[in-house]
Amino acid sequence: MILVTGGAGFIGANFVLDWLAGSNEPVVNLDKLTYAGNLNNLSSLQGDARHIFVQGDIGDSALLAQLLAQYQPRAVVNFAAESHVDRSIHGPEDFIQTNMVGTFRLLEAVRHYWQALPTDSKAAFRFLHVSTDEVYGTLSKDAPPFTEEHTYEPNSPYSASKAASDHLVRAWHHTYGLPVLTTNCSNNYGPYHFPEKLIPLMIVNALAGKNLPVYGDGMQVRDWLYVKDHCSAIRRVLEAGQLGQTYNVGGWNEKPNIEIVNTVCALLDELRPRADGQSYASQITYVQDRPGHDRRYAIDARKIERELGWKPAETFDTGIRKTVAWYLDNADWVANVQTGAYRDWVSKQYTSQ
Ligand code: NAD
Repeated sequence: MILVTGGAGFIGANFVLDWLAGSNEPVVNLDKLTYAGNLNNLSSLQGDARHIFVQGDIGDSALLAQLLAQYQPRAVVNFAAESHVDRSIHGPEDFIQTNMVGTFRLLEAVRHYWQALPTDSKAAFRFLHVSTDEVYGTLSKDAPPFTEEHTYEPNSPYSASKAASDHLVRAWHHTYGLPVLTTNCSNNYGPYHFPEKLIPLMIVNALAGKNLPVYGDGMQVRDWLYVKDHCSAIRRVLEAGQLGQTYNVGGWNEKPNIEIVNTVCALLDELRPRADGQSYASQITYVQDRPGHDRRYAIDARKIERELGWKPAETFDTGIRKTVAWYLDNADWVANVQTGAYRDWVSKQYTSQ
């Protein structure tokens, strides 16, 4: 049995689905079901006894103690977080509460559970914390990609709150001996991605005939990884990672945002051409840049490749094609996440220049 937190969100849901596709080891999935949590992501597991869903908060110490005692997991994988940079700029409070206080409460509950385990189970137990490359701050154009030794220089409320959570995890290892592992991954894309993030937003807006809002000059560079490859990296770190270590996870796919948007448009032109024969790229609209927008992130993933033998299965070309095809094939999922609250947020987020 493993306990996953945030398993109804984008990466967590992909992780739970992949886990249960490759193993019969059950999963307890604790998720608060914020706007980003969506049980439709897990609808294929309905009636599957290997998946136990619990709606709740990682900040709820009593609930955590009860779940750990009841299910006796051999590992905890922490995905639960507020994850959207733009939302962290408009309202940082939830980010402090979940990413910092929530991670602290989770660590404490797990520590008490772990300390009371019998020797064998105690030695085998793992706490894996899922984090981001944004904790390292921004890179200049020609700087080498982030290694695990790069200093933490977070620039947004989101990345600062994640950086704080990484430090707590590190401290719980050094101070209490808790057997922790941390992964710092670059931007993910793929199925079940909430359409407030760049790639799904572009697909959804393009198909709806709306503007494709691109921040500033569109030349912000990110490294991109197909979500299933992130999931395989987490599984690999869980089974073979060195306790107390952090592992950078990335796809060696550095691309400016505008190139991503043009690629999405070209794939849509091919797979679902516009009725008027024009390219979806004609819908691109440059909007005012995000305050403090980091210019470049790039991940050096050589440590996980060298030490744990992990490699991504997808290139950016194969992954983005699968992603666009998934959104075209799953119009019902897209319609379901586009609630009134979602529409209000998206219109607040992007203001035309
Ligand atoms: P997401 O926003 O799609 O999902 C987060 C999930 O956590 C949601 O299901 C939400 O309901 C749940 N949640 C939020 N607050 C909670 C709380 N207090 N208690 C319990 N559950 C709570 O995020 P994601 O993109 O799937 O990211 C998952 C993790 O991976 C995050 O920790 C994020 O920082 C990290 N990460 C994301 C990316 C990316 O590109 N998306 C890249 C690297 C790392």
